[in-house]
Amino acid sequence: MSALTLVPHNLHRVAVDGRRMMFHIPTSGLFALDEVSGDILDLFDDLPSVTTDDVRRRFDGRHPADAVVVALEELITLDVVSDGRAAWPGRKPVKIENFPLSTIVLNTNTGCNLSCGYCYKEDLETPARGDKMSFETARQGVELLLAEGAQRGRFNIVFFGGEPLSNMALIREVVAYAEGRAAELSKQVDFTLTTNATLLDAALIDWFDDHRFGLTVSMDGPKAIHDRNRRTVGGKGTYDTVAAKVGLLLSRYRSRPVGARVTLTAGVTDVATIWDHLINELGFHEVGFSPVTSGEADPFKLNGDDLAELFANMKALAERYTDAAIAGRNIGFSNMHQLMTDLSEGMSKALPCGAGLGLLAVDTRGGLNLCHRFTGSDVPLFGTVAEGIAKDRLGQFLESRLDRAGETCDTCRIRNLCSGGCYHESYARYHDPHHPTYHYCDLMRDWVDYGIAAYARIRARNPAFFTDHLEPRRAMK
Ligand code: SF4
Ligand code: SF4
Repeated sequence: MSALTLVPHNLHRVAVDGRRMMFHIPTSGLFALDEVSGDILDLFDDLPSVTTDDVRRRFDGRHPADAVVVALEELITLDVVSDGRAAWPGRKPVKIENFPLSTIVLNTNTGCNLSCGYCYKEDLETPARGDKMSFETARQGVELLLAEGAQRGRFNIVFFGGEPLSNMALIREVVAYAEGRAAELSKQVDFTLTTNATLLDAALIDWFDDHRFGLTVSMDGPKAIHDRNRRTVGGKGTYDTVAAKVGLLLSRYRSRPVGARVTLTAGVTDVATIWDHLINELGFHEVGFSPVTSGEADPFKLNGDDLAELFANMKALAERYTDAAIAGRNIGFSNMHQLMTDLSEGMSKALPCGAGLGLLAVDTRGGLNLCHRFTGSDVPLFGTVAEGIAKDRLGQFLESRLDRAGETCDTCRIRNLCSGGCYHESYARYHDPHHPTYHYCDLMRDWVDYGIAAYARIRARNPAFFTDHLEPRRAMK
């Protein structure tokens, strides 16, 4: 036997109630370690390179020799221990030629009726001066979705802006058209949008409810936090208006749960207080946090100490999520819930998200962008709704992102969950959508490490949580 070494980027060890477990990174699978396997892994903590004599010395008289051999062979097969040969095939290079769309994002209007300080939109104007999408452009976008995703039975149309509610005429027309087309094809269509809520009224809420919209409200927390950045064009805080509209929305919306999306900026790291206000005082079903870590809006970026504090606070809230999950409750912390969903589904991502593959965003002129955050940017388009997807160019873009050879991501232990990070983060930070989001890898690894340990605890103590709280949520999408 040649000398054996551990392959640290392929495993993550966790202890739950004294039981040793291993999260196998290539498959995102969770294994209970028996005593022999656990002891073998411990041996590598003491010796970076292990010989046959080392194994004999450690285990003779402690474990039967055949049990040690079997356990070692299993660990080698899983590529957790290496005997010098490549046991686990890496991802093979793939040629991407098909783009089975499930989601199209329609940028209804570049205009917004608010003027939030941190807004990343490159093409933002006031609604009156905003560039509005025509129905014909939107119709072509829907037809592109139906044609490229022909094998799918279910589609999602996302309305985005600026503020999407500032072009309700278009949204109503698109919904009527898409529902008609879906019925003709015996398929299902879902609608989602994120709004600042200021333009909502009872009639509009009921209309969204009738069409089962998935609604998310952009809201940053209690008044003092929300009003720091979310202001009118005249500079006035919008909390009072938004909170009143949210009250109206939540009092009459029945078809789907309503979530809040919080943008976290420099100096705003107290996620527990924000979560408490939005969930327990206002009544949202779930809250998702989006930290600003890159982009032009420099004064708003979370950096250094702020970012570390934010992740520590996220972990503290995640601890509450975990305790509640063990007790059979979901406290509506979306970031943690998404991580638990990914782990539960054995997520192994070759690309960071569906942008460009299952999802494209249409700008107001009909240009095709990787996702909503690229509309109005200087990243070249990947075709138009009229001419179709520029498949060669989009394929090359995705293939080059798939190729991680020689990069830190190639051997990163969270590569199958992070996969190099969001293209837009990379574009905003490095002006290159291919560049991995190296500016917070350690924090991301720490967050995922925490998530794996929490996942193992919930699995061990209340496995029903995953069927009771994750699967119904998936079915609703
Ligand atoms: S961007 Fe960083 S954290 Fe993400 S996979 Fe690459 S090295 Fe790992
Ligand atoms: S590129 Fe980033 S912002 Fe766009 S869909 Fe992917 S993760 Fe989201």
